[in-house]
Amino acid sequence: MPQETLELSARRYAPTYYASPTTRIILPPESFAIGSFFKMTQPDKYASLKSWQESRRESKDSFCELKGEYQISLNEKTPKGKNKKIKKDILSLKPSELLFALKQKMRFELGSYNLWNVGGSGVISPTKETDHPYTGTVVMTANIKSMDNAVKGEVSKYWFTSITGPFIKGKELSLTDLYCGCQDFRWNSTKEGYTNINTVCTHIAALMDFAKESPKDIRNYLNTGKAKDSEVFLPFNFNDSNLHIDILIDHLFNTTNFSEISQRILKNPEIYTPKLTDLIKEEKVFYDVLVQRNAKRNTDPKNTDPFDSLSHSLKSILGKKGYRLKGHCIEFKDTEYQTVSLSYERGPYIRRILFNEKFPPITTLRRKLPNQEVRIFDSDTTPNHPFSYLFEPQKVLDDRTRKKTLFEVRIPFGLKVPKILWRDYAKTIHKYSSGGIEGVISKVRNRKKIPNQKVLIAWLEALKAG
Ligand SMILES: [Zn+2]
Repeated sequence: MPQETLELSARRYAPTYYASPTTRIILPPESFAIGSFFKMTQPDKYASLKSWQESRRESKDSFCELKGEYQISLNEKTPKGKNKKIKKDILSLKPSELLFALKQKMRFELGSYNLWNVGGSGVISPTKETDHPYTGTVVMTANIKSMDNAVKGEVSKYWFTSITGPFIKGKELSLTDLYCGCQDFRWNSTKEGYTNINTVCTHIAALMDFAKESPKDIRNYLNTGKAKDSEVFLPFNFNDSNLHIDILIDHLFNTTNFSEISQRILKNPEIYTPKLTDLIKEEKVFYDVLVQRNAKRNTDPKNTDPFDSLSHSLKSILGKKGYRLKGHCIEFKDTEYQTVSLSYERGPYIRRILFNEKFPPITTLRRKLPNQEVRIFDSDTTPNHPFSYLFEPQKVLDDRTRKKTLFEVRIPFGLKVPKILWRDYAKTIHKYSSGGIEGVISKVRNRKKIPNQKVLIAWLEALKAG
């Protein structure tokens, strides 16, 4: 049968700060890269673009892959009055030609040239009055120049932006709430049950960057008393690299989506500030995914029905066992089986539900291990086919926490698995689990705490019989 699945796709992948049980704050590195680029002066932006081009000519090995040639807009008009287009390798362009082509891409994507044209002091106008001038909570507000104000005149020139609790004192971050009027913020900020999910957009990132550089310009910074021993929190720092140009080129020329970009960019230790590293190690920040709702759903319900019913029973079983949904994250990261999963927790146990068109639906079971260090840049993950970990516990890194856990793969079984999927399970186990179905049966027999062990064995026997 066609593998129409409930596979989730990632809109953003980012360190996520769990501010409270009802608030999560997503910190996408690309927002900070673009936000800090936005704030640069035009001459600095141009210098950065030139130096990026030079360093890319010298070394092919870097952040984003470049194609041999791209469709480039030239600053010359055709007889019809349009920009002339040619196909060319962007490293062979003169810097001024590359700039022109880049600006055309920016206008196409954002509706204006502001990301390039506005810069330096033109970006941020701190507001004169704060909404909450009392001491205690600091609300940092400003009007940030919109990056997309040319959209049919409907969009205001500045966005009102606010950050509640922008400070960090030791390892205590006081961030509780964000707001920006822009579309990106509205689109990405969402609710999951009772939890508010706020996503840092490029404007909020630019304001945080600004505040970090010149905290005295935050209106009520000095009269709050908070300033003492506190500093403005900034998770990423792109100042000493050309990575912001790489990100722009990758996104605008290669049309790579932000979730893919951030998965790569987060492998660069030099962009992390020590404060972010602290928060990850303290387990206040996790690597979460913001999902695209139902992106891959097929419109024919006949094909998704069996998966829908299975997904429904898996969720309800976990709910009855006392598991609670914590968020979305990635399993089998950096492999061809990479999957966005729903992550549930109960005490030391983590259970994740995975739908992927490359294998029948599975769950992963992870048990937290005592005294494990957080290893942010470790890559000891799960390289093999998911079914090779079926009932085969082993210690591997969890991408969400960057800690080692005891990991194994489990499958749904019995009558809750729609009949139409049985053959698929049988074939996949036969191909990828050691010893085939027989091998899995004996692994299950030798384990102690497998719930409904008899039903599971009977079901595996039924699969074997075909
Ligand atoms: Zn915004």
